[in-house]
Amino acid sequence: MSFSQLGLSDKVLAAVQAAGYTNPTPIQSEAIPHVLARRDVLGIAQTGTGKTAAFTLPMITMLETGRARARMPRTLILEPTRELAAQVQENFEKYGAGQKLNVALLIGGVSFDDQDAKLMRGVDVLIATPGRLLDHFERGRLLLTGVELLVIDEADRMLDMGFIPDIERICKLVPFTRQTLFFTATMPSEIRRITEQFLHNPVKVET
Ligand code: AMP
Repeated sequence: MSFSQLGLSDKVLAAVQAAGYTNPTPIQSEAIPHVLARRDVLGIAQTGTGKTAAFTLPMITMLETGRARARMPRTLILEPTRELAAQVQENFEKYGAGQKLNVALLIGGVSFDDQDAKLMRGVDVLIATPGRLLDHFERGRLLLTGVELLVIDEADRMLDMGFIPDIERICKLVPFTRQTLFFTATMPSEIRRITEQFLHNPVKVET
């Protein structure tokens, strides 16, 4: 399987080549065509398997058309920690180079006003930890009704950190018709329950 068979855009293929990747990893070749076909995906994968590119590459391809409106992010990625959120942002910088994607990070410990100014400009990709995202939402500075795609990453770590009630709340604030990509390394019963509640007929991808 080669990257060019997955349905990614020419710009994204060029970025993958520039990154020096020769072949997609198993999670990438399995998940990317389904993401591009707008299916919900349940990915059971550890970090280090290439899981981040499995969602960032098709997202960049999909975001090449359309435009973000003020305070209405087009896509939302939830991460359990600031460090993971920052790593995902770096992926968008690396693979989305040369494209005018507006990417914003909503994490704790950083100025609220700077984050707010970014939201105002319109955001294609919002990467957030659950608490800070809900902070902005509760202040009425963020609308989640335009989210076309939701990524819940490292769900089992979210569970360990007590974020599941926040995740459930956020899942109810985004449109029912969004696409959802859900990644976890393990499947404890609480995580299984969430996937049954919030994923619609998902394709299961396991590595
Ligand atoms: P992740 O599992 O997303 O944390 O990715 C682990 C590492 O693998 C990252 O440093 C990526 O840059 C790298 N990587 C992702 N996809 C590929 C690929 N297809 N070929 C080689 N390296 C990759």
